[in-house]
Formats: sequence, C-alpha cells, structure tokens
Amino acid sequence: MDVVKQLLRVVAGPVLALALPFTASAQGLIRDAEIETILREYSDPLFEAAGLKPADVDIYIIQDDSLNAFVAAGQNVFIHTGLIMQSDTPEQLKGVIAHETGHIAGGHNVTREQAMGAAQGTSLITLGLGALALFAGAPDAAMALFGSAGQFGMLTAFTFTRTEESAADQYGLDFMEKTGQNPEGLLQFMEKFRYEELMSVARRDPYFRSHPISTDRIANMRKRVAQIAVNSKPQDAHSLEQLAMMKAKLVGFIGPPSRVLSRYPASDQSIPAKYARTIAAYRAVDIKAAMTGIDELISLKPDDPYFHELKGQILFESGKAAESVAPHRKSVELAPQHALLKVNLARSLLGAKNAPGIKDEGLAEARIKEAEGLLIDAIALEKDNAFAWNQLAAVYAAQGRTGDADFATAEEAYNVGDMGRAQVFAMRAVKKLDPATPNGQRASDIAALSDPRNRSGRGGRQPLALHTKH
Ligand SMILES: [Zn+2]
Repeated sequence: MDVVKQLLRVVAGPVLALALPFTASAQGLIRDAEIETILREYSDPLFEAAGLKPADVDIYIIQDDSLNAFVAAGQNVFIHTGLIMQSDTPEQLKGVIAHETGHIAGGHNVTREQAMGAAQGTSLITLGLGALALFAGAPDAAMALFGSAGQFGMLTAFTFTRTEESAADQYGLDFMEKTGQNPEGLLQFMEKFRYEELMSVARRDPYFRSHPISTDRIANMRKRVAQIAVNSKPQDAHSLEQLAMMKAKLVGFIGPPSRVLSRYPASDQSIPAKYARTIAAYRAVDIKAAMTGIDELISLKPDDPYFHELKGQILFESGKAAESVAPHRKSVELAPQHALLKVNLARSLLGAKNAPGIKDEGLAEARIKEAEGLLIDAIALEKDNAFAWNQLAAVYAAQGRTGDADFATAEEAYNVGDMGRAQVFAMRAVKKLDPATPNGQRASDIAALSDPRNRSGRGGRQPLALHTKH
C-alpha cells in the first residue's frame, strides 16, 4: 500500500484524491491474499447460514480509515479497512458482516434502482499490494489501472429504510445464532459508537449515517442477543489471532510509522507486533531490518504462505527479482488457491528473466514458460484480473507472440474499463490471430463489446465484476 502513495506522488490529477490514505474521503480498493482469506473465513459461514452460495458473494476491501461496511449491486459486500481496525473482537466484525448479509438475504439492495445505477457506471480497480511496484516507473500504466475507481463513492450515498435496518438486524442475529457465534459483538459495536448519534452528521462515520443507532434499535436486539449468547461457542483463539494479523498488516502498510511504534513497541514480542514492525521497516526501505524480521517470522511459522509472500515482495522491490522467485514459489505451494500469489510469482519470474548476469537462454525461456502457466491459472480463477492480463501480455511479447500480446493487452484495458484502448488492441489482435482459436474468438468479442457503436450508458463495461470467483 505504501507503493500506492509513492506512485501517486508521480501521478497527477484526480487519481491523487482517491487513493491518498489517512483522510475520511480517501478511497481505493485493495487486494491482499491474506486479508481476503481471513475475511472469507469470517464471512462464508454467515453467507451459508443465509442460504447464499459463498462463491457468489464477492468481498471488496476499501482502503479507508472511516468505519463502514455496505452491500451494493447484488451480492457484493464492501468492507472499509477502518472497520477492521476499529473492531476489538472478531465477533464485532462478524456481527457487522452478518447484518450486511441480512440486507442481501432480505433482498434490500437488489431492488433499489438507485444503487444498481450507481454500480453500473462503476469500474472498480483492484490491485495487489505487490503488483503496484511494477508501475512505479510507469505512471501512465498506473493511471490506466486506477481508471475511474472514484466513482464507487456513489455507492455509499445510498441508505436503507428503518424497516430494512431492523430486518437486517434480525437476520444478522439469526446468522450468528445458526453459526453458533456470540452476537454480543454487534451490540458492543453499536454501543461503542452510540455517542456518535449525538455528534453532528458530518462528523459521524459513514456507517452510522446509513445505520442510525437508536435506543430502540439496541433495545430490540438486546433480549435476543442475550438468549443466543447463552448457547454460543466460546471465543476461538484462531479468529482472534487472525484479527490481530490483519490489524498488524494494515497498520504496517497504511499507518504512519509513528502509529506502528506506538501500537507495537519493540518490547512487544508477539508475532503480530513483529509483523507490523517488519512491514514498517520494508516501507522505510530498511531492507536489512525487513529481511531480519521476515526471516525470524518464517522461522516461527514456516507454513504461513503470507510470510513467504512478504519476503518475496521485499526482495523483488529491492531489485532482487531472481532471489524473490523461491519465496514466492513457496507461498504458491502453501496456498495454491490464490490468484494473487500466482501473479506475484509470475511477475518475479518475468523480472528474473532479465536479471543482470542471466545469460542462460534456456533458463530465461523456462521462466517465461512457467510464468505463462501461472498467469493462465490465475486468470482461470479471476478472469477479470487486469494485472494478470498485463503480465500475460508481457509473457506473450517475450515469446514473440504479438497477436496474443495484443489480445492480452485488450483484455487488460477492457477489465479496467478503458474501452478506447481495448478497441485498438482487440482490432490489432483480430488482424493477427486465427479467428478459430480461443484468443482470436475472444479478441473479436472484445472488439465488438468495445466498439463505440455498441457501448451503452457510461462506457459499456459490464457492472461490477472485478475479482469474481469462478
Ligand atoms: Zn444496515
């Protein structure tokens, strides 16, 4: 995430306003394999309890210090990093997610044309924390990937009725009960922020603007919460640990260094504290301290895929692409279901191909081939991952497959909603590729979809589908 900031120093214009951290209005979608995995572990049982298929529900993480969560445009849950940071227990966070799931179960959002309209014009850009580094020297490419992410602020302007809120509260309690979890967290959360009711509307966190906490609302929940709490499972240590790791990572990546030092002083020898300090060292470009920190973490928990991922990231971004291959490969071995980890490894392999001193043609070719396989696997998991398409275009270019490279660039542009560029590259690919091949076929589809005559509304991009699970 620090890379976002560095990047934005060189990128001019409106992009600056949407991804700068530390202000309430700062918004940018972030991708992180570890945080996404934990949020899915927290949420999937609740989605199932609601009768939803977890694979059909997408979770988006918004980098924003303010406290907020909302659903929009069908089965999409949006969670602010501020909500994670301000949750004292996993149950508080899960309680809010259960409530939001209640809105989906109640069909509250899908019936609202206003929200649908806002979402359809929205092209959401998602970038892995590591993926941004490649663009540090290429602000144009970064600009293209950021695209029109600012539009999604419109989604939050939308509020539910009191009846819908009360229904979502009841649903949320049902889902906590069905999963054997203690719903007191949701109540604690509401009580913790009740004072905000007395504050001016402008100073309230967005969540409480759309979810007013009335005494009635809390009173209505309290009795049922107490009944469910009696039968719920005790707090589990694993969930607590996961919350601590998410917070450490967010503080390390987003927070100012002073926050890392005050929250995680050197005397704190816990794993989350070491994690936050290691990330802070990496952000401060103290590579020696970052490497010492990450090696210690790996020795403490050798099977944590995200420690290996961070080690790969530190090495890659300090110019050691060839050395970053092994830790990234380890992260993929430990968590093979993650598209983001595969893309990291592919990027390292591509970087290592050109590493100084690499004279071995066969090795370079093998690395490109391996990167190709990884990116194709990643795209099978997330077909709209623009960065994976960007890297696949680089693979094809290195292999001299110019038609396929143009096709992959067209996909990249299409998936960030840049229809003009998608059109140009799709047309080039159509001229070079056999129309009977899958890439040739898809290139002509993109050419048609991005044709100005076929574009409708705001750019013609399909609504809100970025890291859909397939
Ligand atoms: Zn609500």
